[in-house]
Amino acid sequence: MVVPWHGLEFPSFFSNTSNTSSLIVQILIFFLAFLAAHSFRPERSAKVLAMKAIRIHEHGGLDKLVFEDVPVPLIGPNDVLVGVKATSINHLDIWVRQGLPGVTFPLPMIPGVDAAGIVADVGSEVRHVRSGDRVVVAQGISCGHCKQCLNGQDNLCKDYRLIGEHRDGGDAEYISVPSRNILALPEKVSFESAAATALVFLTAWQMLVDRANVKPGEDVLIHGAGSGVGSAGIQIAGMMGARVIATTGSDAKAAKALELGADDVINYRSQNVLSEVRRLTEKKGVDVVFDHVGVAVWEESIKALSKGGRLVTCGATSGYEAKTDLRYVFYKQLQILGSTMGKKGDLQTILKLIERGILKPVIDRVLPLAQAREGHRIVEAGEQFGKIVLIP
Ligand SMILES: [Zn+2]
Repeated sequence: MVVPWHGLEFPSFFSNTSNTSSLIVQILIFFLAFLAAHSFRPERSAKVLAMKAIRIHEHGGLDKLVFEDVPVPLIGPNDVLVGVKATSINHLDIWVRQGLPGVTFPLPMIPGVDAAGIVADVGSEVRHVRSGDRVVVAQGISCGHCKQCLNGQDNLCKDYRLIGEHRDGGDAEYISVPSRNILALPEKVSFESAAATALVFLTAWQMLVDRANVKPGEDVLIHGAGSGVGSAGIQIAGMMGARVIATTGSDAKAAKALELGADDVINYRSQNVLSEVRRLTEKKGVDVVFDHVGVAVWEESIKALSKGGRLVTCGATSGYEAKTDLRYVFYKQLQILGSTMGKKGDLQTILKLIERGILKPVIDRVLPLAQAREGHRIVEAGEQFGKIVLIP
């Protein structure tokens, strides 16, 4: 007999009491059906077990980005499964793909430090979001109980890690992250904008607001206007009332930097950055240099600073073994400030400013996730102005 146990209709075994063995079988079937209906919670609402993702199995060139089927990540009681609607490429993804001397990445791994999407499932202890919510992922994973974490400086935690660097990232249809890394995404902010925001705006925010402590009226030199972090830096420094001098490598990008709010732009291919800074500041130099380029601009950056100036650095895409003439440092009483990521709470402030149109994530183009290699190629060649967003 057919037993449609998963519907409302259960076997009518009371009508057949004369056959004892049949009754036992029917009771057993009923019991198993009851267990199936009441004991087994679906693994996740979508019941999807496999997903498309970019994975890196070994370090190297663009061909090491493999678009393939992988299992959907599991969630623990305090985790959230996010259906990724947009991710974006950061320079960090290039390093993860190529590999870095002295750094061990957990291969094979899914890169992608940014992710925005819709909650697909939550662990049993998660209260602040539910399935269907629009969210953005904060990248930093920290222990949550050390002094720095308790003081809200989670990016100073000794166990600080990033999604897409030390564990699977957002270049996939789903990502599982601790619930404290999930922030509500305002209705007005698109998934693409959110994916283009989190890492670069948080990085630029800490550099300019917390570390360099930019004041209204100061002169700020922003290197690499066309990069994601540079385009964020121009806007944040401008919002703080600084006069923004940006550098970039083409006239087309220079025009875009001006549109974005830069007061002056220096084309480093056709102009001498140092003499232009001196001209624009009447020989004073800039109060703050915002750097993520490293060795290629380091010496001129030190020289471009005014007395009492601050150089804040978050990266070294051109190389990290820079030379510093210490005479400039002590004579001009300079400060060299390191910066990595930012406090997760500041991301809420940034999203609010984006919602209000005060800050604008800059998206160069949107590509399907399957074209991640092309996205990496563009970022590596520096052809973009703003962010390359990937859609799974
Ligand atoms: Zn900690």
